[in-house]
Amino acid sequence: MLNIVIFGPPGAGKGTQSQKLIDKYQLVHISTGDLFRAHIKKETDLGKKVIEYNNNGILVPDSITIDMLKGVLNENKQANGFIFDGYPRTVAQAEALDKFMEENNTSIHAVVQLAVTEEEVRQRLKIRRDAEHRPDDEESKVNRRIEEYFDKTVHVLPYYEKQGKLAKINGIGSIDDIFAKTCEQIDVARGAKA
Ligand code: AMP
Repeated sequence: MLNIVIFGPPGAGKGTQSQKLIDKYQLVHISTGDLFRAHIKKETDLGKKVIEYNNNGILVPDSITIDMLKGVLNENKQANGFIFDGYPRTVAQAEALDKFMEENNTSIHAVVQLAVTEEEVRQRLKIRRDAEHRPDDEESKVNRRIEEYFDKTVHVLPYYEKQGKLAKINGIGSIDDIFAKTCEQIDVARGAKA
């Protein structure tokens, strides 16, 4: 198995790079943001619980997020591996993921951090707002999501750094260059764990 976490602020390019990694390594993509949006669209019980958090750019409580994640992982036990996009966003979520991986005799192999400045992220989200019309890409909500990232989510980085799994990649540049650098790091991690 190959399990990768792709990490970075909203607008860092996680979705774009994830798609390319899925194609190359045949991984199952787990984007908790996409999963929440799908529940909201289908008006499921879970969707109704998370809509306010989601629309306002506030993190959904850990217990709800972790339960949803475990459900999806259990449905995909035959996968070659996973790419986690937008998860974990808190240390509690990272710990829960490690525990789940251990129980299934596997682990997270690498955490790819796409490093992008706040200014660049704001610009990119403005462009995405015009193109995709995501309700949480409105300016006030973007500010909130960026705050959530810098208040809560960045604390996950030292958790993985201590485990020697963190690969920091400059997220500014061409999509293909960033992808090449990302693959290099993944192949090193994969080789080390093979
Ligand atoms: P994203 O598309 O990854 O930016 O996520 C959109 C929104 O979904 C976030 O602003 C949160 O409300 C919620 N969300 C997604 N992933 C998580 C997570 N791992 N923990 C808590 N909330 C999340």
